[in-house]
Amino acid sequence: MHFTGQVWRPPFEAQNALLQITSGCMHHKCKFCSLYDGTPFRMSPMSEIEEDLAELHRDY
Ligand code: SF4
Repeated sequence: MHFTGQVWRPPFEAQNALLQITSGCMHHKCKFCSLYDGTPFRMSPMSEIEEDLAELHRDY
């Protein structure tokens, strides 16, 4: 699986598979928030998404 930067997921999603489509925050201006400091916004290339979908299909 391809993951870039920090992955944030609520506890009730702990058993679910994750598929990363974007990373970072495209807004990044909320003064109270440091969730994605140092992580530029990025959209995953379709090739990574397709590889991850194939891996999820195989393993889940
Ligand atoms: S709260 Fe943080 S992650 Fe959400 S939009 Fe604002 S800067 Fe981005």
